[in-house]
Amino acid sequence: MKVKKIYLLLSTAIIASASFAQQGDPKATEFYSPVPKIITPGKAISYAPSDAIVLFDGKNLDEWVTTQDPSKAADWIVAKNILTVNKKAGNIQTKRSFTDYQLHIEWRIPANITGEGQARGNSGIFLAGTGPGDAGYEIQILDCYNNKTYVNGQTGSIYKQSIPLANACKKPGEWQGYDIVWTAPRFNEEGTIKSPAHVTAFHNGVLVQNNYELKGETAYIGAPVYKKHGPAPIKLQAHGDKSEPISFRNIWIREL
Ligand code: MG
Repeated sequence: MKVKKIYLLLSTAIIASASFAQQGDPKATEFYSPVPKIITPGKAISYAPSDAIVLFDGKNLDEWVTTQDPSKAADWIVAKNILTVNKKAGNIQTKRSFTDYQLHIEWRIPANITGEGQARGNSGIFLAGTGPGDAGYEIQILDCYNNKTYVNGQTGSIYKQSIPLANACKKPGEWQGYDIVWTAPRFNEEGTIKSPAHVTAFHNGVLVQNNYELKGETAYIGAPVYKKHGPAPIKLQAHGDKSEPISFRNIWIREL
């Protein structure tokens, strides 16, 4: 009798905690080990090759629109040849859609950055933005120079899926770069996955993702899942944290 009762109590507790995770405990998908090795990067600056599409060269946002309403121009701030996030305007995305590509993008955390954890210079690149808000596949941007957070949410992570192979962050105030090779997922007619997405990424010239096979779109809560889509824009994140907005420059892409 007693054993049966304990078993019943235990299984109820397991079911309760499992359904709690499903309903929305973001902590259920946050991991704190293994901690990526800290590396001092070299100087990585890369100029657009002749066959690249230049997405931002310091002059204007002609290649970008507002994610919430793609008929509207992107309302982030262009000044002194750099692009700065306007958090009130929300995410922005490329006018064009892409499938497989090589992307170069540079970004800078402000020298006076404040906040901690995920609320310290959070932004990100959705390698295929599949819809409004944060729909898509995010490679994280965050100040992780001296800032602890869950390792599958630090700079260079595929958010809550893949821990970066190293922490190659530069100090706030210094320009940093990502070089990314993206292979888009392919879907069967009825919507099931035919071949998953893959990503290789270098942060400041250091390999942080090595042909990682994605499990689906990156999710704040719960397990990643794939939803059928075709060519998609690249999206930059205006994260809702209170820290100072980050900047971008020198963005170019080569379609593969
Ligand atoms: Mg982010």
